[in-house]
Amino acid sequence: MTDDERRGREEMGALAASLFARGFSVGSAGNISMRLADGFLITPTNSCLGRLDPARIAKLDAGFAHVGGDKPSKEVFMHRAFYTSRDDAGAVVHLHSTWATAVSCLANVDQANPIPPLTPYFVMRIGRAMPIVRYYRPGDAAMEPAITEAARGARAVLLANHGPVVSGRTLTDAVHAAEELEEAAKLFMLLRQERTRLLTPAEVEDLLSTFG
Ligand code: ZN
Repeated sequence: MTDDERRGREEMGALAASLFARGFSVGSAGNISMRLADGFLITPTNSCLGRLDPARIAKLDAGFAHVGGDKPSKEVFMHRAFYTSRDDAGAVVHLHSTWATAVSCLANVDQANPIPPLTPYFVMRIGRAMPIVRYYRPGDAAMEPAITEAARGARAVLLANHGPVVSGRTLTDAVHAAEELEEAAKLFMLLRQERTRLLTPAEVEDLLSTFG
């Protein structure tokens, strides 16, 4: 095992435990992956993010075949969709976090970009837009091409009636982006009945040109 893989396993265990401890994931929901020089690490199927054993995190080869550790998450195809679509994806975090999942259930929002630019931090972490991918039954193979298509133009997507899938350059980036998305979703839901000032298109472009 390379030092990179050993460090990746430890980092994934620690960040997953932190997400679980703060209620971003419950039970065996949620899964996390990261790119290595020779493949990928992904959390095992039915594992709890709060109690991962770093040594048992699943290892996949560059073609996503299981080559080590416990059996990978059944939602591995969501991660594969991002790695296939985006060269800049070094890690992917999928959660059923409450506020983002609440937004994923709303019928009367812009499906191409449901969360408006309320704060700079969402724009800096997630980018210009985060589309909703329409509902698919869990495990439906048709979900992968739909996510692959949506991920071409977005660092994160919301799976309708399910939850967010968020990519980042590094594992820490992807976790921070998933946390920022959850906060933005919470603000959006809290402010839905209030008159709000959104960032203007010029303010969004200024952020994207500096931090995008
Ligand atoms: Zn899920």
